[in-house]
Amino acid sequence: MNRPLSAPKSPPTPPLRSSPVASRTSIELSPGVFLPVLGSQECWDAIERGHCVNAECFVCNALLQCKDDASHFICPGCMTISPLQQTSARVEASIALALKTEVLLESLLSQS
Ligand SMILES: [Zn+2]
Repeated sequence: MNRPLSAPKSPPTPPLRSSPVASRTSIELSPGVFLPVLGSQECWDAIERGHCVNAECFVCNALLQCKDDASHFICPGCMTISPLQQTSARVEASIALALKTEVLLESLLSQS
């Protein structure tokens, strides 16, 4: 049986990858003010490199770990966006997904 290979179809929309970070989205925080959202992979990478800080959610008081160069973070518990108390000199206007400290500790303990 001689089955011809079907010609690859061109994708309907080309992938928009202008930077190595794929699918970075933005949130419009106030009219006309867009901040990029740093995804969980970027946050895990920052934590592995030690570039994270303690943060506390204003709303539910969850203790969180957040990428240290973000200007805001999203609480994973109540989905609130809070400003991050800035400790880093290289702050980028961005919103990082934060991780609950207890989740991070559990993850670290399960690896050891
Ligand atoms: Zn919260």
